[in-house]
Amino acid sequence: MLSRTRPDPHRRALLAILLSLVAMAPAVRADGPPPPPELAWEGEVPEDLAPVRDRALALCREKLPLLMRHLDSPGWVPPKRAAIRFDASLDIPACASSEGVRLGVKWFRAHPGDIGAAVHELVHVLQAYPAPERTEPGAAVRHTKPDWLVEGIADYLRWVVCCPEPGALPEHFAKRSYRESYRTAAVFLDWIVKRSGPQVLRDWNDALRRGVFHEGLIEASTGKALDPLWAEFQAARP
Ligand SMILES: [Zn+2]
Repeated sequence: MLSRTRPDPHRRALLAILLSLVAMAPAVRADGPPPPPELAWEGEVPEDLAPVRDRALALCREKLPLLMRHLDSPGWVPPKRAAIRFDASLDIPACASSEGVRLGVKWFRAHPGDIGAAVHELVHVLQAYPAPERTEPGAAVRHTKPDWLVEGIADYLRWVVCCPEPGALPEHFAKRSYRESYRTAAVFLDWIVKRSGPQVLRDWNDALRRGVFHEGLIEASTGKALDPLWAEFQAARP
């Protein structure tokens, strides 16, 4: 039988403390981190490229948990499977789509050591950011997916987080622009993470994935708009 009693003031105080602790706790999904996609090799492998296949697949499998942690965002459902394959028709080193990673046969014959490119492309598979621009009837085009940032994150995770290599990254930026994307943007993002904390990239990744990223977020996260922030970076790394 339920008894109706007046709430105990001590219990109410304890409840208030517990509720405030819950509000302060970092967001954790009840179902835990999302499961990583299954990484599998698909398609033919030219005999001379079998060692590249083995090393690229092993590297991607080794780095996948780290990439998952960096690219996690609330409610994110990663793909169940990501295939890696060679593509003899590619005239670029590698590319990615929702189906997985394609590595250019011509490129890897000439550059068999460049297997970190597979990690860069795997980042794109996991990013799965929606279309670059969204329009609403009568509204201006919104740029929700800046190339320099998308490629910068992929190269930051490749060259800074997963596969650092001496001499691989540029060191002087006085005459460069973040719009060069890739490694230049990777060093810029590394500097931003060290300046403003790792949550910045998590927030931007989340906004990019939800299709709501806009440059104003950069100022909200760092206290400076993009161009003055770049100028501060250039002054620190001339
Ligand atoms: Zn890329």
